[in-house]
Amino acid sequence: MSNLRIHPVLRDIAAVFTAAGKEVYLVGGAVRDLLLGRDSADWDLSTNARPEEVMGLFRKVIATGIKHGTVTIRWKGISLEVTTFRTESAYSDGRRPDQVRYAATIAEDLSRRDFTMNAAAVRLPDGLLSDPFGGRDDIKRRIIRCVGAAEERFAEDGLRPLRALRFASQLGFDLDRATAGAIHGALPTTAKVAPERIRDELDKIIASPNPLRAFRLMEETEMLHLLLPELAACRGVEQGGYHHFDVLDHSFLACDWAAKKGFSKEVRLAALLHDTGKPLVRRKKNPDETPGDSPSGGGAYTFYNHERESGKLAFEVMSRFRYPNAVTEKVLRLVREHMFHYEENWTDAAVRRFIIRAGTDLIPELTQLHLADTAGTTGAESDPAALLPLLDRIEAVLEKGKAISLKDLAVNGRDLIALGVAPGKYVGIILNELLDAVIEDPALNSREKLLEIAGNITTRYRKASR
Ligand code: ATP
Ligand code: MG
Repeated sequence: MSNLRIHPVLRDIAAVFTAAGKEVYLVGGAVRDLLLGRDSADWDLSTNARPEEVMGLFRKVIATGIKHGTVTIRWKGISLEVTTFRTESAYSDGRRPDQVRYAATIAEDLSRRDFTMNAAAVRLPDGLLSDPFGGRDDIKRRIIRCVGAAEERFAEDGLRPLRALRFASQLGFDLDRATAGAIHGALPTTAKVAPERIRDELDKIIASPNPLRAFRLMEETEMLHLLLPELAACRGVEQGGYHHFDVLDHSFLACDWAAKKGFSKEVRLAALLHDTGKPLVRRKKNPDETPGDSPSGGGAYTFYNHERESGKLAFEVMSRFRYPNAVTEKVLRLVREHMFHYEENWTDAAVRRFIIRAGTDLIPELTQLHLADTAGTTGAESDPAALLPLLDRIEAVLEKGKAISLKDLAVNGRDLIALGVAPGKYVGIILNELLDAVIEDPALNSREKLLEIAGNITTRYRKASR
């Protein structure tokens, strides 16, 4: 077998190990990529040198995961994770290995790895392939197969079934039958896995260009019911009207489309979760309601306020998987504001109200979510040009520089207090009333006019409180 071509940087690093009489191999995703003929973004190395020894060999090393035998080398601006040969140790809690035991050989190290495609190694610096489980053939046939008996490997670590689905999405590979067949039975083990580890896999599924593939497998194996019951409950929730799909397929397709367009993680998550409230609020439409007058699009059902319920469920999902607050907040805003139906007869005031509700910073992503939502409704490509009229109006309104927030008003709280308003909540109430007035009629935004209106409002409150 001919040796694989090795990047010069890897050869330089390998020389340091060889000079110290140690073995070093390229392992993991980088080998997979090499066999696929792709460039790899990150390199993982495996060695018989102990972590302390590796630390002694290089000038820039960080003890990133010393408990697991991993250190990180910095070399000419590149980071490489170097892990000492390990054996599979028990995962008695299904979460993390109980303790790390070092192995003597690369063969032993490879046997603890999850899938055959991840269990090949390339010896450095000569590029000799070590492939005891037929990873190269499986890669050629585009198959994800467990190393050894799938039931056992999944029972050791409940994250592996989800990794299998994630790789299916990322690589467009199929699951080997035995591997696929073992997923359902492993769900109780997956249930014990730390939520952060699950989140990282979900993120990789959503970041892939083909999340739909993993979503379908998740549903078939009932991984979806375990991890995202809110979504599983959307299966069979028909929508009627112009909707071609039930709520679950709609959500899957919206997210998949957003992924294919390269939209942000928040838009993808919002696309997946934006309609989860629908099963909770679906009502059969009254016969006297005119078709087409509701967000359900003229079907037999209404889904009033589903965006609020979806927001609550999205919050539960995002909290459960410990998403960072900033990500959660943005996803929730997108979900809550996703229901807008622009029509040309919107007044400038309506456009300003829309900008205020959404927040100027959110508008680009909100329009992307809208496009994904539309694409997921019919399964057809949605046309970004459809939103240009709204975007033009928003730009025009913003360009006029008219007031869209309290700080744009020509008066402030101090002015009101000088007018005799008692400091406290009334100041806020009156300022908001003034903003409403200015949104309706921007010409009112002068000090003189606003003070006059404020005077009228205070008189009104005084009378009302008598
Ligand atoms: P990528 O980095 O592109 O996500 P990868 O294959 O490098 O893909 P990592 O999570 O970085 O995946 O893991 C590196 C290697 O470690 C894997 O290729 C696999 O050999 C092994 N590995 C990772 N996680 C597990 C696990 N849960 N069980 C068994 N082996 C694992
Ligand atoms: Mg990796």
